[in-house]
Amino acid sequence: MASDDKYDLIIIGTGPGGYMAAVHAAQLDLRVACVEKAPRLGGVCLNVGCIPSKALLDSREYYHLAKNSFADHGIKTGKVSLDLATMMARKDEVVADLTKNVRQLLERNNIDIIEGKARLAGADRIEVSVDGKKTKQTYQSKSIILATGSEPVAASGIAFDGKAIVSSTEALEFKSVPKHLGIVGGGYIGLELGSVWLRLGAEVTVIEMLPKIATGLDGQVGRKLQQVLKRQGMKFRLNSKVTEAKKANKKIKVTIDSKGETESITFDRLLVSVGRRPLTQGLDLEEAGVEVDPDSGRILVDASYRTSVPSIFAIGDLIAGPMLAHKASAEGIAAVECIAGRPGEVNYDAVPSVIYTWPEVASVGLTEEQAQERDVPYKTGTYPFAGVGRARCLGETDGFVKLIAHGKSDRVLGIHMVGPRASEIIAEGVLAVQFDAKADDLARTVHAHPTFSEALMEAAMMARKGNV
Ligand SMILES: Cc1cc2nc3c(=O)[nH]c(=O)nc-3n(C[C@H](O)[C@H](O)[C@H](O)COP(=O)(O)OP(=O)(O)OC[C@H]3O[C@@H](n4cnc5c(N)ncnc54)[C@H](O)[C@@H]3O)c2cc1C
Repeated sequence: MASDDKYDLIIIGTGPGGYMAAVHAAQLDLRVACVEKAPRLGGVCLNVGCIPSKALLDSREYYHLAKNSFADHGIKTGKVSLDLATMMARKDEVVADLTKNVRQLLERNNIDIIEGKARLAGADRIEVSVDGKKTKQTYQSKSIILATGSEPVAASGIAFDGKAIVSSTEALEFKSVPKHLGIVGGGYIGLELGSVWLRLGAEVTVIEMLPKIATGLDGQVGRKLQQVLKRQGMKFRLNSKVTEAKKANKKIKVTIDSKGETESITFDRLLVSVGRRPLTQGLDLEEAGVEVDPDSGRILVDASYRTSVPSIFAIGDLIAGPMLAHKASAEGIAAVECIAGRPGEVNYDAVPSVIYTWPEVASVGLTEEQAQERDVPYKTGTYPFAGVGRARCLGETDGFVKLIAHGKSDRVLGIHMVGPRASEIIAEGVLAVQFDAKADDLARTVHAHPTFSEALMEAAMMARKGNV
């Protein structure tokens, strides 16, 4: 590629934000290139995030079921044992397949893939360097989308060593099941990975500074999740801060301060999952004039995803909002719409979030606590999975669906659930919020029987009860 080649759009980063933006732009007949510094396309999500974690979560559930539940169904499997190397190899194969698919998708849409690390070299150009090569290539483009994602942050005073004290990336690669895994941070990444290793036989202790886990959840749902995980054997140290982590004899001695009381716990491995920060290092934002929020480090954008430099846009984990793959993709598509002069937008009230523990947790819209804070008149309807025939057939009756509707208009404000297949049922809840449905609309919608989604219909019936 000659350095004077010009594009309509260059996207830096090929995560779910970047590659979805690229494909959409190509479909709108823009001339597009994507730059990626990692050996494989697909970003954090495909390589070290959503996909490998879910591949392991699915495998760990099969293992758990084979060990503990198959006999109830009359299935005799003999002695069940774990072959962790095969489980990991399968996960790697899933990741390799999907990253290959992203490359094919980009190629099919005539999108140029530029390998190397990009930096901004002006409002309309980037410079790309390749490790080990001296030459740098410059590319020009009318618009640029920054989609470089995020990286894990270390907890204060605890440095990652990649072996004993690790981030989520290494916790997806353990070669053996840790005897005792400590997890600093009770957010969704820590809980999901904790759930993997718990079901594979580790003792798991979650240490959380706040009085509850997964703080963004509706309170009732969060309490239920903690109760179920506790019953499965996960241990929780809430209101507890890790003040020191020392390595000795292949173990990690962690000092915890719980409301002034100090205590030590010894772990074999320590996963630190206290959050992620936008990955802007090396982009030369300041030189290019791209403004960043000084507190969060996130790039500032307007409603069109335009940064302080009009030709440069930013999306995904780099900007404000939840760090989620589908949020990044939706923003990538919306940013491209704006670049093409169309009305691109994302309805942030209707962005779902899921925690892939077992049972799963899923939610969209306002929590009950948020409805109270905003002084919105509301009513709730709750229905347990224990009352759902299909859940009984599966033997997974833990949890419930909770629907929050406006107290006067009956409009659905939020849907929250903990239970089997919650990650799939939530799609209907997202549609309800997106299309301003009323609880009554959901209650009157005919649901196939027996299905897990009947729990949502029943919760809607409970919510409208006061009205009819
Ligand atoms: C363990 C884990 C599990 C997760 N599970 C889920 C889940 O189940 N569901 C969900 O919605 N989200 C999940 N997430 C979050 C999700 O992965 C991120 O929100 C999502 O990947 C963000 O997408 P993005 O496009 O903004 O950036 P990323 O996916 O981070 O992609 C950025 C890309 O940019 C490249 N890049 C960076 N700098 C440069 C540069 N200078 N030049 C060229 N290339 C560059 C990177 O190599 C990377 O490929 C998970 C995250 C983790 C860590």
